[in-house]
Amino acid sequence: MRQFQIAYHGAESFLGELQNFKRMYDVPGNCKMLFQIFSEYLEEPVVSAIGRAIGQVFPGIAYIGCSTGGNLVDCRFSSGISIVATLFECGSTKLEVYQYDAKALPLDEIAQAIVQETRKHAWVKAVELYVTMPDCPYTCFCDGLKDIRPDVQIFGGIACNGDITYNGSCVCSSVGGFSKNSVLAVFYGGEDFHVDSVRVSGWKPFGKKFGVTKSDGVLLQELDGALAYDVYRKYLNIKNDKNFFYNTLEFPLLYEYNGVSLLSVPTASNEDGSLVMSSEMENGGTVRICYGDPKTILELILRDGERICEFAPDILHVFSCVARRTFWTSNDPAYELEVFRDIASSVGFFSGGEFMRTDSRLQSHNVALVIAAMREGERQKAETKMPEVKMRELSRIPLVSRLATFISATSLELEQMNRELEQANRNLKAAVITDGLTGLYNRAEIQRRIEGSLARVGSKKFSLVMLDIDNFKQVNDTYGHQKGDRVIITLANLLHEVQQHSLERYSAGRWGGEEFMLLLVDADCAAASAIAEKIRCCFAETTFLSMRSQTISVGVTQASEDDTIDMLCTRVDTALYQAKRSGKNKVVVA
Ligand code: GH3
Ligand code: MG
Ligand code: MG
Repeated sequence: MRQFQIAYHGAESFLGELQNFKRMYDVPGNCKMLFQIFSEYLEEPVVSAIGRAIGQVFPGIAYIGCSTGGNLVDCRFSSGISIVATLFECGSTKLEVYQYDAKALPLDEIAQAIVQETRKHAWVKAVELYVTMPDCPYTCFCDGLKDIRPDVQIFGGIACNGDITYNGSCVCSSVGGFSKNSVLAVFYGGEDFHVDSVRVSGWKPFGKKFGVTKSDGVLLQELDGALAYDVYRKYLNIKNDKNFFYNTLEFPLLYEYNGVSLLSVPTASNEDGSLVMSSEMENGGTVRICYGDPKTILELILRDGERICEFAPDILHVFSCVARRTFWTSNDPAYELEVFRDIASSVGFFSGGEFMRTDSRLQSHNVALVIAAMREGERQKAETKMPEVKMRELSRIPLVSRLATFISATSLELEQMNRELEQANRNLKAAVITDGLTGLYNRAEIQRRIEGSLARVGSKKFSLVMLDIDNFKQVNDTYGHQKGDRVIITLANLLHEVQQHSLERYSAGRWGGEEFMLLLVDADCAAASAIAEKIRCCFAETTFLSMRSQTISVGVTQASEDDTIDMLCTRVDTALYQAKRSGKNKVVVA
């Protein structure tokens, strides 16, 4: 398998360039050939003329192509129009091109048609996709292709264009001609054809997490209750104008919901401040703005570079998101591809989205780099090792990338500080409502809860239980204050347990020194006094180290709609007083 670039300096000279190429390389008749046309322009006459010229000089030879956000030839940026011819030298290699009109057929039916074709051709080992920019996400298309045999690799890219103010795109081929709305599928296979593919992202979330508070399918309306667009305006100063799509492409959102985690980009912004995203978003999901992390990208590139090296490919097809071109800046838009330059000849383009099948599922990615490695025959090359010099060269990181590292590092630190602050805040909040000695709610909190329950008593009944340790002064006097504390804590632990087993319906608080209050929601007088009786028994049976057993007296009352908090507390206090007066260690209901 060999690849040749054919110079293109305009339509007039191109025919001559093609004839020269044919003469120079004396293409053998039994070889299969494929021409690839990558064009930053999408004017029909320009693209179609190239196809016609190829048909004239190489009749019957297939060509495919698409508009791009920049071309890649041998992993170097190439502007304008790039034309590459690939020669397949093994007689067994097979190649088929299909083009489907997405205006005439819905995307799921196109997917089914592709699945049918792969079933007909047992030789297929890879399906390469070139598609035009979608009106709706390619999700259903990708889902439809899952029925292709799991051993078939699928990869490709969404066509783009060099004019950032316009979101049109085109594909073209020898079977379907020029189209601004089509799916192009190339099947590769045969006994001696081998293929491998990798996908690199390296984009990481930074900064604040936003909750999806209003969305409808791909329409993202609100984040944290504010207009979705405002996130891009406020944090990145991206205006809601014709460049919005290209400006935001470099800053996708990492969407997370129910274990799903994917990068999604806005494909359009509406006047009402909502965004059309490249994937569906559910209310309750979260998003974070992402930025390329150069260190991660380079680590991933080197790892996948090794893998491709070992595969010893003849050629590479590269699909790199236009966002990556902007990320590495116009000085060196193909910076991250340097590693692959010496591995094999390559051709590709900066795309508006990338396809890659992993674990038999095909996904449409954003800001990804997909590389397909192809080879005919067994591994020929001597073990190609990633040259060490590449590693050194890659440590020369552009300024913008250093800034990205700075942003990631500082936002990680801020996140960590935020987590610590949140924890401190939670601790403070808990401390404000908790009694220090017992860990139960303090008096203010249990009072607040009683008031809350009283406000709802019409629809939800509740009861109060007030408990006081009998003859506690004697405990202090006889055994000392510390032992006294132990007794208080023992009763509190008992109340803790009652609270814990109630599924949040019961609240236990320390009312004063050795007095406690239980708020029992959903419990009437009978239920409350049964619980009170259990606690009384349990406490009376508790033994203390070198101290006699202790008892409590308990008052119980149920709240009524006419009650004020004062009336209610006085009533339960009176019941408790009666329990004391009538001999202690008992429960009295009022
Ligand atoms: P009664 O059976 O009538 O309740 O008699 P009592 O001795 O328990 O009487 P009272 O409720 O008036 O006494 C409460 C005592 O509890 C007074 C106070 O010294 C003691 N006390 C209050 N808070 C604490 C505390 O946090 N630790 C200890 N060890 N003692 C406390
Ligand atoms: Mg007491
Ligand atoms: Mg008391």
